[in-house]
Amino acid sequence: MSDTNASLAVRDLQVLWHPCTQMKDHESFAVVPIRSGRGVWLEDFEGRRYLDGISSWWVNLFGHANPYINAALAEQLETLEHVLLAGFTHEPAVRLAERLLRLAPDGLSRCFYADNGSSAVEVALKMSFHFWRNQGMSGKTRFVTLQNGYHGETLGALAVGDVALYRETYQPLLMSAFTAPSPDCYFREPGETCAAYSERRFRDLDALLARHADEVCAVIVEPLVQCAGGMRMYDPVYLTLLRDACDRYGVHLIADEIAVGFGRTGSMFACEQADITPDFLCLSKGLTGGYLPLAAVLTRDSVYAAFYDRYVTMKAFLHSHSYTGNPLGCRAALATLDLFERSDVLGRNRELAAHLAHRCERFAGHPHVAEVRQTGMILAIELIRDKARRQPFPWQERRGLTVHREALQRGVLLRPLGDVVYFMPPYVITPEEIDRMVEVAADAIERALAD
Ligand SMILES: *Cc1c(COP(=O)(O)O)cnc(C)c1O
Repeated sequence: MSDTNASLAVRDLQVLWHPCTQMKDHESFAVVPIRSGRGVWLEDFEGRRYLDGISSWWVNLFGHANPYINAALAEQLETLEHVLLAGFTHEPAVRLAERLLRLAPDGLSRCFYADNGSSAVEVALKMSFHFWRNQGMSGKTRFVTLQNGYHGETLGALAVGDVALYRETYQPLLMSAFTAPSPDCYFREPGETCAAYSERRFRDLDALLARHADEVCAVIVEPLVQCAGGMRMYDPVYLTLLRDACDRYGVHLIADEIAVGFGRTGSMFACEQADITPDFLCLSKGLTGGYLPLAAVLTRDSVYAAFYDRYVTMKAFLHSHSYTGNPLGCRAALATLDLFERSDVLGRNRELAAHLAHRCERFAGHPHVAEVRQTGMILAIELIRDKARRQPFPWQERRGLTVHREALQRGVLLRPLGDVVYFMPPYVITPEEIDRMVEVAADAIERALAD
């Protein structure tokens, strides 16, 4: 028997427990069954189509069921689906490492694979700590993170994150990190430039490092955009200053580009806009074009060298995941990188981003829009109750959720973060599809503000 939307939704609620969801919400709003995807469109069992305005949680770059990636994966499937990466190797893993290291900022020369973003963050944290320990500096046991930062949901990643909604409950389980003020330009003073604000905030971090560098392994940041924290954005100057400070104080810089890597902010990697090389670059999400879970942590020769010794010195990095460097994931990633090479993706994204900006000008003067902000292919609209007093809607009203539901009914998938409505579409979206996405968002926002 073939499924319908309703029958699949019923079966789902009998057996599944969904991520990031209060399951009771589904008493009043059904899960959305998706039968197929093509390009920016998802389709349910009754032929209703949804424009994927958030790239299925920021992973998709070149559309669903992309023919080129599909073909590469089909070939890989016939060749090698998986082999352990300890003691063994395979061509997709080697080729992907070569290509990532060529693309990444200068100075990164080693690639360690993991299988999701949180795991990549865990790898970077452990490697940094272990590096200092191998250098005889075992007093370095702590990390510095930014207010409102997000680095994933596993306990280590959660400990260096600062989004209360995800973190607070688990606080007693988490290692304690130093938290520095965010350079997030939403809080700049009237008349203050974003760069000036980010620079001002940097001074707090500098002071923190001056006091605590002896205990600190690394500073971890999301370059340019704090995505899960509400698409909050800051100026590249902060990264430039941060790189310099990390060098001065002898601490590592971990760039978590899991969400912003692969062209999302306008450059291949966000760090390029500050012309810096982090000591660890964490990649996942768009890495496989949104096809398969895979992550990579790129680091420097100097880090690698600190672990390289006779076995009995016990300096090796013994971390592993069963699916480390999975060949299908690596092959999807290689096909994704091919697509970047085959056309001027970043150039086209600039045009699309400009078109999106133009279409969203209408929101800026809205009495319940605090700010419209954009970095490359991310545009966010922050809804607010009282614009003059910067007073948010009570969170219990869940206005963003109403936007989500209203937009879905109109065939667009938006999934606001609290009251922040944002667009983060696949790069294959057309200007006409952008128009439609924005039009639907405008309607949905009006509905959500109506009462
Ligand atoms: C999504 C995300 C993660 C976690 O990745 P998962 O694959 O969901 O574990 C980490 N850091 C950032 C910046 C992210 O956006």
